[in-house]
Amino acid sequence: MDKFIKPRMRMIDSQLISRGIKDERVLKAMEKIPRHLFVDEGLQDQAYADSPLPIGDRQTISQPYIVALMTEALELKRNDKVLEIGTGSGYQAAILAELADRVLSIERIASLADRARKLLEFLGYYNVLIRVGDGTYGWREESPFDAIIVTAGAPEIPKTYIEQLAVGGRLIVPIGDRFTQTLVKATRLSDNTEDIETKDLGGCRFVHLIGEYGWKG
Ligand code: SAM
Repeated sequence: MDKFIKPRMRMIDSQLISRGIKDERVLKAMEKIPRHLFVDEGLQDQAYADSPLPIGDRQTISQPYIVALMTEALELKRNDKVLEIGTGSGYQAAILAELADRVLSIERIASLADRARKLLEFLGYYNVLIRVGDGTYGWREESPFDAIIVTAGAPEIPKTYIEQLAVGGRLIVPIGDRFTQTLVKATRLSDNTEDIETKDLGGCRFVHLIGEYGWKG
């Protein structure tokens, strides 16, 4: 039996449900996905702790609660097409792949993208396409997206993401300075890219979104 089932169930109860995560599909996905496989062997015992963990290259796998909060806020439907910026370990992409038919993810560090690609393939997530590059440009050829999730902190909302959202599409992105950010949900309301509704989902702390429309290094 998987020795991580108990810690995973504890994570669901004590970190997610107790803090108000309600979407059964998000909870089921996080109950199913073996988060410990997305970190180095030496860190597996901490994989279900209430914190982010290092994944190499000075990057992190996000805290489980933040993953759940962002995913719930995306309001995914089965036939949605989703773009993730910042593949990292691939854990968030696996959760998206449980909830939506098509997941595209961009990572700027090739070694992380390679590792995530192999692991997602091993776990049978064939509906995730990962590419290496500067995700602040989005993925124009594949747009429009029903949802975009940015898992690194930006100084402001990159306009590329609003442009590549479908009308009615949802964007979740941490916005702030280099130290702390606010999780922002932006919903595109019409063809006009200025016509967006934004909502503040609370404070957070992410690694930097580095690129043309993010931090410059
Ligand atoms: N979603 C990831 C997971 O489930 O493990 C966690 C992502 S980690 C907090 C942020 C990631 O964003 C890092 O892997 C980093 O290399 C990546 N990143 C930063 N700027 C980027 C950019 N412009 N384009 C693509 N990826 C970027």
